[in-house]
Amino acid sequence: MPKGHPLIFCEGFKYNSGDKFSFRKQTYEIIKTEPYEKIDGSITNIVYFYSYCVDCFNKFECTMPIPLNKKPNRRCRKCKRPLEKARVTLKYKSFCDNIGFTLGI
Ligand SMILES: [Zn+2]
Repeated sequence: MPKGHPLIFCEGFKYNSGDKFSFRKQTYEIIKTEPYEKIDGSITNIVYFYSYCVDCFNKFECTMPIPLNKKPNRRCRKCKRPLEKARVTLKYKSFCDNIGFTLGI
């Protein structure tokens, strides 16, 4: 786990569909996990998850190898700005509260 980038997992988190985690106040939900063959031929598992873009509030999906130990994307592909810090605004927070997309802890 990279220092200063805490991922918080919902209770009973097991990479199952519907399990949630958060990163810097942004919530993410697991869609599914799938085996994946790496370049060296070894098999790993990747997890598909989604969240809502902090800028345009659109739903976006991304993938990551298991275990999750990197920073997840904060924005959708259209808003992608890797060098610019993503900010969870009050408007974004209330959007997520309204649709029930929170970690609940
Ligand atoms: Zn966006």
